[in-house]
Amino acid sequence: MVNPGRRRGMNQELEKVEKTEDKNLDLALRPQRWDEYIGQNSVKDNLKILIGAAQGRGESIEHILLYGPAGVGKTTLAYLIAREMNTNIRITSGPAIERVGDLASILTNLMPGDILFIDEAHRLNKMIEEVLYPAMESRTLDIIIGKGPSARTIQLDLPPFTLIAATTRVGLLSSPLRSRFGVTFRLDFYTNEDLEKILARSAKLLTVQISNDALSHVAACSRQTPRVANRLLKRVRDYAQVHGDGNITGTTATSALKLLSIDLLGLEETDRRLLQAIISKFNGGPVGLQSLAAACSEEIDTIEELHEPFLMQLGFIERTSRGRLATRRAYEHLGLAFPETEARLAL
Ligand code: ADP
Repeated sequence: MVNPGRRRGMNQELEKVEKTEDKNLDLALRPQRWDEYIGQNSVKDNLKILIGAAQGRGESIEHILLYGPAGVGKTTLAYLIAREMNTNIRITSGPAIERVGDLASILTNLMPGDILFIDEAHRLNKMIEEVLYPAMESRTLDIIIGKGPSARTIQLDLPPFTLIAATTRVGLLSSPLRSRFGVTFRLDFYTNEDLEKILARSAKLLTVQISNDALSHVAACSRQTPRVANRLLKRVRDYAQVHGDGNITGTTATSALKLLSIDLLGLEETDRRLLQAIISKFNGGPVGLQSLAAACSEEIDTIEELHEPFLMQLGFIERTSRGRLATRRAYEHLGLAFPETEARLAL
């Protein structure tokens, strides 16, 4: 048996490789035009009005906050907005801006009208946030030069720019930061129908034939998330190439997904391990996130950002003030008997 520390190390290595693969795939399949960006219609309609109005006035658009689960198209939207506004986009992320100087250098290098995209905005540190406030509000940058009694503040004017921030954890954003965005959009999970359209386009770009039943099977297993759909498509394509003639049929899709231990609802091994742990090690919960992470040898962030949102969306986990609970549906999905105690009957 692999010890928990080693398994965690192996998981992290695997995640790193998967992240690089995901990034390359994201780049190759990223929609380049509005009509290629499937779903999220209300967000798209609102953005088009915002862009049209700003263009009419010859101004930059307001600062935009995008939030929603990982892989639902926040970065893609930022690129599309930049393309529509005909401006440059600078991409960075909360953890990458470590010092005030990093942010100052990014901001002072922006050209008029540029878009600055900050991913994982909930990971910006407080000092950086405080420099961002005046930059967002009045396009000024306050820099302290020197140290001790001789330190002085100089104020630099910045060109007009738009900040687009994206986060999977909007609740962690400080309220002063949140209040400085002109508009906030929530991106939702996708319907199977929309995922099928995304998959069909991706299959075309990857020049692979895919049958309709394979499309609907892969879509149903994609955790309602375009990034996952594209990743599965790539895996299924590889399988079809090795075990067949390269074309993806319903049968190849089913076998490939089975080999990946992905079940009919899109749950992966880790999702099932989390549910199993809540049920068998913690009596169905409530269990705190830290104990759950330790019991499954998983990172807390991975559980919170990748697994929990989807398990909650399926109604398999409930978050209470005392911790996570497995619901009746989770027991049923795993083929386990739900304990009919009074406290649990409500779930
Ligand atoms: P996020 O920034 O929310 O994590 P991304 O914008 O990086 O997600 O999206 C991941 C990938 O999923 C993109 O590269 C793109 O291929 C695909 N994708 C996301 N949203 C859509 C969409 N609405 N239509 C088509 N493809 C999409």
